[in-house]
Amino acid sequence: MKDQMKIGCHLSSSKGFLHMGKEAVSIGANTFQFFTRNPRGSRAKEINEKDVAAYLEYAAEHGIGTVVAHAPYTLNPCSADEHTREFARLTLADDLRRMEYIPGNVYNFHPGSHVGQGIERGIELIADTLNEILTPGQHTTVLLETMAGKGSEVGSRFEELAAIIDRVEHKDLMGVCLDTCHVYDAGYDIVNHPEEVLEEFDRVIGLNRLKAIHVNDSKNPFASHKDRHEKIGEGSLGFEALYSFVHHPKLCHLPFCLETPNELPGYAKEIEMLRQK
Ligand code: FE
Ligand code: FE
Ligand code: ZN
Repeated sequence: MKDQMKIGCHLSSSKGFLHMGKEAVSIGANTFQFFTRNPRGSRAKEINEKDVAAYLEYAAEHGIGTVVAHAPYTLNPCSADEHTREFARLTLADDLRRMEYIPGNVYNFHPGSHVGQGIERGIELIADTLNEILTPGQHTTVLLETMAGKGSEVGSRFEELAAIIDRVEHKDLMGVCLDTCHVYDAGYDIVNHPEEVLEEFDRVIGLNRLKAIHVNDSKNPFASHKDRHEKIGEGSLGFEALYSFVHHPKLCHLPFCLETPNELPGYAKEIEMLRQK
């Protein structure tokens, strides 16, 4: 095959796994991301084993690699309210149980917002949550997403993600998903100083923990702490910076998922733009 780069986009999971696999292939993708349930956090459909079996066969035939499951973004494992934290724990644990039907993939979540309790307390609560839901022998790596730092979000500094992982007992089950819009908004200049940012990531977290990349341009300027995604090449990062980032020798083996404001034809175009040599 000419190009083994793993790139895809966020797809709707409402019609099941086989449908997502076919949709991915139809837009030139060989990975994809999906919400494990309604992004606002409602009850999940039980896994349809026939659909999963058909998907796994289709994925093997079409070279679909590691896929990225995304937890509902409304979960807050470091809320000040115990009921909210409990809801996050139950949801994450239930998602991980269902992820066992598609072993060997990754499950990404937003670390949470400390809502005035302070970063330290937030880090502690997130790690406590992970220590309750991770089970030795599980076949899914859990990823913390790098955040833009809006409001009281935890995880906009590499040190915060490292501190969470540091407190987790089963560190072998943990990784990080880097979102290009988020890190740029957070003040990591991957446009002008990508080498320095990757060196810093490696020093603070370890590049071996990096398991997936969200490829997004940003509607806002550098270090704005906003988190509004833009189409590739139409935002403050620009096409060239994003293109060289996804082709960086230290990153090019990872799954890349677009989360840009697009329908399928727009995603197909961006995948083609980023794949071209
Ligand atoms: Fe996300
Ligand atoms: Fe993201
Ligand atoms: Zn975002």
